[in-house]
Amino acid sequence: MAIVLDGKKLSEKSEKDFVKRVSVIKKKTGSSPILATILVGDNPASATYVNMKGNACRRIGMESLKIELPETTSTEELINQINVLNDNKDVHGILLQHPVPSQIDERKCFDTIKIEKDVDGVTSLGFGKMSMQERVFGSCTPYGIMRLLDEYKIELEGKSAVVVGRSPILGKPMAMMLLNRNCTVTICHSKTQNLKSKIGDADIIVGAVGIPKFIKGDWIKNEAVVIDAGYHPEKCGDIELESIINRCEAYTPVPGGVGPMTINTLILQTIESCEQSLK
Ligand code: NAP
Repeated sequence: MAIVLDGKKLSEKSEKDFVKRVSVIKKKTGSSPILATILVGDNPASATYVNMKGNACRRIGMESLKIELPETTSTEELINQINVLNDNKDVHGILLQHPVPSQIDERKCFDTIKIEKDVDGVTSLGFGKMSMQERVFGSCTPYGIMRLLDEYKIELEGKSAVVVGRSPILGKPMAMMLLNRNCTVTICHSKTQNLKSKIGDADIIVGAVGIPKFIKGDWIKNEAVVIDAGYHPEKCGDIELESIINRCEAYTPVPGGVGPMTINTLILQTIESCEQSLK
């Protein structure tokens, strides 16, 4: 029987620990950690994600500070707003919801976030430090996946891993995190040739493509570990999971696998940021 890498279960278990950590902070300081979320424009999916993050804060007794900016916001205006939050001692984490409207230089804005408050792990500096195995907040989706793999004691060392997707927030940091744990990593993308055979050789596959059921079950070898980071309105991910769940070593279900771990990791890192500020 394949192991179900149950992100919903792990995130619920972690939240119990978060509640305790937040109450210790409250006893010590009289206030709770604060996550500031910035939503630019009125993309309904982004608004939903920001609300989910605010709800997760509330569930564990933490505060969130919601900043909403108009669709017409410029790079400079957004940078000014981020700097206000950088300077606010009460704010421990800053989340800039991706994607921002096209007139904004998203990378420049991400890189304005102070590294100590980069609880979503989006800055170039954070990526570099993580790659060099320095202690830093990880990009939430890939770090959430690593936490899930560790929870279920999935062996990584020496395994061949294929990450399909190379985005700055998911594919690239995922590949680095697996490399840092001694996997032999291949990163695939839209220009990759012979994708099917590369996936066929992999012990660990991470689907981070953004196309529903793009990776077919029959491309994947028996006993592989299958991680599906995708989530689509038709309630499926980027991998055709049905045909491999009876012959793989482990897999993340969709929904309930990677998704809950992303927000959970954001909350974890905000608490850690607050704890570090108190040392
Ligand atoms: P993205 O920025 O659109 O990146 C997609 C990647 O897939 C790109 O690197 C692209 O290659 C590659 N790709 C596209 N078509 C391909 C093809 N035919 N063959 C091989 N590679 C191909 O997406 P993302 O933000 O990384 O997200 C990826 C998936 O993860 C989406 O389904 C998204 O919904 C999901 N996601 C989930 C969470 C969560 O919390 N669960 C968080 C973030 C993302 P190029 O670089 O060559 O264009």
